[in-house]
Amino acid sequence: MIEPVVFRWHEAEITALSPVTPHVRSVRLRCSLAEAYRAGQHVDVRLTAEDGYQAQRSYSIASAQDGSGTLELMIEALPDGEVSGWFSHLAEIGDRVELRGPIGGSFSWDGPDGGPLLLGGGGSGVVPLLAMLRRRAQGWRQIPAALIYSARTRAEAIAVAELERLAEADPNFFLHLATTREPGGKRIDAPLVADALARIGAPGKVFLCGSNRFVAAASDLILAEGVAPGLIRTERFGA
Ligand SMILES: Cc1cc2nc3c(=O)[nH]c(=O)nc-3n(C[C@H](O)[C@H](O)[C@H](O)COP(=O)(O)OP(=O)(O)OC[C@H]3O[C@@H](n4cnc5c(N)ncnc54)[C@H](O)[C@@H]3O)c2cc1C
Repeated sequence: MIEPVVFRWHEAEITALSPVTPHVRSVRLRCSLAEAYRAGQHVDVRLTAEDGYQAQRSYSIASAQDGSGTLELMIEALPDGEVSGWFSHLAEIGDRVELRGPIGGSFSWDGPDGGPLLLGGGGSGVVPLLAMLRRRAQGWRQIPAALIYSARTRAEAIAVAELERLAEADPNFFLHLATTREPGGKRIDAPLVADALARIGAPGKVFLCGSNRFVAAASDLILAEGVAPGLIRTERFGA
């Protein structure tokens, strides 16, 4: 019989806060979970108000393990969002929250898992893929990797400067940014997916993350290129 995994809550303290885009904030937390996760996994975050009211949401881990005892989340402020609103507008360094996890073993990657890696992210769905690329940069740059990233505008693209620096410095990494709400912008399409695949060769792992709509569109395009369905792992953040 398979025993269910029971996650318990761990105390975490906010150690740094910084803007990533106009709507996304980086939140670094000191927590005992920080050294025991794989790139791509997420944590549940629980906030408790003074009157005991609690709210809980899932957030992907943006960092790769770095020995600092901390992990990084990147949280997009949604209009009237309860938890994202707190992190975006009210949270301060020194505040305490609780984390549970890490969760999502099948949506995770480490160097020995190999590649080539085909990654597709929509909006904040790029966060777990960023963690995979950061992990890859720690010693597995020989593994070809392509990131297809759909964002509304370049200014709203998470960690775009870091990703562009990586693409310039690393001949085995290819960034395909599709901006949907800029003049001349477009949604991801068949030529873009074909180009990504031509650069990395037949993928060994495919990870897609974002809205239901993004994940469905990206899956269809990748399957149409002949990639085996069994290689594709998906994670959906919502509508
Ligand atoms: C595995 C996983 C990983 C995730 N990782 C990330 C991540 O890395 N970064 C990230 O930013 N997000 C991530 N998310 C999404 C995150 O969990 C939350 O769903 C998100 O932050 C919204 O939570 P919230 O409390 O701010 O918004 P909520 O208060 O839950 O509201 C969500 C939206 O619905 C609207 N809404 C709420 N109540 C109503 C109502 N009654 N009527 C009409 N509209 C309403 C709000 O205006 C808001 O826009 C992830 C989700 C999953 C499942």
